[in-house]
Amino acid sequence: MDYLPLFFNLHNQHALLVGGGQVALRKARLLVRAGCHITVISHQITLELQDLLDETQGCSGILGEYHPGLLTEKALVIAATNDDALNARVSLDAKDKNVPVNVVDSPALCTFVFPAIVDRSPIVIGISSGGKSPVLARMTRAKIETLFPQRYAKLGELASKFRAQVKAKFNTIGQRRNFWERTLEGQVAERVFAGRQDDAEQLIQQTLDTADSNHNAGEVYLVGGGPGDPELLTFKALRLMQQADIVFYDRLVSKEVLDLCRRDAELVYVGKARDDHAVPQQGINQLLVDHAKLGKRVLRLKGGDPFIFGRGGEELEELKANNIPFQVVPGITAASACSTYAGIPLTHRDCAQSVKFVTGQLKNRTADLNFDELVHPNQTVVFYMGLHTLPTLTERLIAHGKPADTPVAIISRGTQPDQKVLIGTLACIVERQATAQLPAPSLVIVGEVVNLHQQLAWFGEDTTPLN
Ligand code: SAH
Repeated sequence: MDYLPLFFNLHNQHALLVGGGQVALRKARLLVRAGCHITVISHQITLELQDLLDETQGCSGILGEYHPGLLTEKALVIAATNDDALNARVSLDAKDKNVPVNVVDSPALCTFVFPAIVDRSPIVIGISSGGKSPVLARMTRAKIETLFPQRYAKLGELASKFRAQVKAKFNTIGQRRNFWERTLEGQVAERVFAGRQDDAEQLIQQTLDTADSNHNAGEVYLVGGGPGDPELLTFKALRLMQQADIVFYDRLVSKEVLDLCRRDAELVYVGKARDDHAVPQQGINQLLVDHAKLGKRVLRLKGGDPFIFGRGGEELEELKANNIPFQVVPGITAASACSTYAGIPLTHRDCAQSVKFVTGQLKNRTADLNFDELVHPNQTVVFYMGLHTLPTLTERLIAHGKPADTPVAIISRGTQPDQKVLIGTLACIVERQATAQLPAPSLVIVGEVVNLHQQLAWFGEDTTPLN
């Protein structure tokens, strides 16, 4: 980090601005917005700048020559002239007197630089490239601008209005933070963004009146972490990941996704490889309940979507039974992710009018799957957890009448940098997998749509033999 970002309180402080043109005007406007008194020194001052100085209390313009005496009792100085020698002199004098100095467009002469600013006062965001690429800083600002609704400022005003009341009500920083995080998200924030400031205020007052300062109820977020590529997370997943106190995560959650959780959140691994349950399901349910009861914001982070072969429902039932508030955030499920990243559309007008998501985990070999249904033509069948039962699955499908030459794909570690795809048919995929040995987690797709892979593959490695 070349520069330390600081926020400078300039209210009723005095600044010297050397230069009276357009660039000086821009800087003057900024300083005035920050409540600063400015003295402008220049041989010429534009009308616009003069007007600004005239109408702002404590500001003045002097027509004349710069001299170091003007730096006395100044909180900062800005040189905005087109005279390089003068700019350099101002910089030297200021450094000599320990007055912070900025010379426009000359980072080497500055002791501080102006960031690009997103102003949603009281929230202000400064972005700097340390003078190395102002364009990149401005582009970053443009992106950040789009993230915050304009009415974000109003939310800040609201928070400021209730700050003292909240402080009086809650004794610990943890309780206050908890209150604010809940209030500034969800219903209060939505009302503010919709322009219903009064409603929002009423709600916040009501919440304060009814909040029990001793009872600090926690909450559980059941969040789908998607298939591995962190860019496939939803905004909501990311937001909740960044506000959780403790995270219980599964084996399928990728390291890159986990890295996006709040830095000081406690991370607890609970999940389960096949036949090796780090923590049994009942134990996980209990952990969620116990930690929420301690007042924590508990994140239950699962691979893919929590409601698709994720046992998310069972965990919620337990929370419900214990009266613990929760939210559920869908994630991109493996079928959707793997098929797109392998260039295999799950449906196609010509060959697949429907798609089935099926578990390949067989309790008593085959008894729990209806294979007669799975062999219907014009559908795609996606097997989750089907890698280790592949021999049984393919054999049963053929025995129930599915043509042996039906195409099959195995997608291993879908969306991850080491994604691999293996293509075959019901007749040969087991043998091919015996050679290729693609690792788990792997998804199996059965149906004519698999043929499209050859044309549409765009990501990862293909391990299919050429013959
Ligand atoms: N809730 C998850 C599925 C959990 S079941 C979801 O919605 O995706 C676990 C199975 O999902 C694995 O056995 C595998 O078949 C599949 N799976 C999950 N992530 C995968 C990935 N990145 N690549 C391939 N298969 C995956």
